[in-house]
Amino acid sequence: MHTAALAASGFGAWQYLHLPLPPELFAETMRALPAAGFRGVNVTIPHKQAALAVADAASVAAREIGAANTLTFEDDGAIVADNTDAPGLIEALPAGFDPAGRAALVLGAGGAGRAAVWALLRAGADVAVWNRTTARAQALADELGARAVLEGEPSDLIVNCTSVGLGPNIDPFKALPLKADTFEVGSCVIDMVYSQGHTRLLEAAERRGASVVDGLEVLVAQGAASFERWTGQTAPRQAMREAVRTPSIT
Ligand code: NAP
Repeated sequence: MHTAALAASGFGAWQYLHLPLPPELFAETMRALPAAGFRGVNVTIPHKQAALAVADAASVAAREIGAANTLTFEDDGAIVADNTDAPGLIEALPAGFDPAGRAALVLGAGGAGRAAVWALLRAGADVAVWNRTTARAQALADELGARAVLEGEPSDLIVNCTSVGLGPNIDPFKALPLKADTFEVGSCVIDMVYSQGHTRLLEAAERRGASVVDGLEVLVAQGAASFERWTGQTAPRQAMREAVRTPSIT
């Protein structure tokens, strides 16, 4: 996705590389990267909290969510942390769907759930959060100002931030507090799980007339925001979308 974005934006000499790291080498590697010519980094599990900790400055989103998925290296080597999962989720909402004043149900209290709860609260939604391990939902709700719930409840927006749906063996309608026949026209369902083709959750929601957004669309939106921080240019979203939706890339 980023290779396609760089090529489409005249940054063909830049490279986006996969850099697997054990946690014990994360901080020292990040501090060495600016001098090695890197402009920034996307960070994923399990390094998102360490990414915030290593930064010299951080956006409000990264600080309040408590995790960063994007590091940008300034010309003097300073490390700036941001969390583009949050604006990415809002950008990926269907055109015309304004979360302000709407009831939102976030499923999951891991990293993606934290970013979703924060983003939706900031966008003015009434946010309920459910998690399989209920204490995590309660802690997240208390910290960010949402409501923890033990069951699903009627909602204008449902965001699956669990890993349920990633594999074929777990039935989302058994693992999550949702029923396949209760989605409504006018509501919106987002499944953060990356999938070529819709997950069972999104198939069921679409059958009932809800608007659906898949994890690849959110991936493109958060990636576009990271790209813009590193390059200062508007990201070529269509080229990025085409790259992630090419089956060979999964
Ligand atoms: P995480 O921090 O490991 O959290 C995993 C979450 O899934 C926890 O809430 C966990 O609940 C729940 N879970 C796992 N197995 C479950 C099951 N069998 N039944 C019910 N709940 C279950 O992971 P994450 O970073 O938040 O990522 C969550 C998902 O979002 C992943 O599929 C990831 O790939 C995706 N994601 C997508 C994007 C995107 O841009 N599209 C961005 C970030 C993440 P417990 O607390 O009870 O264990």
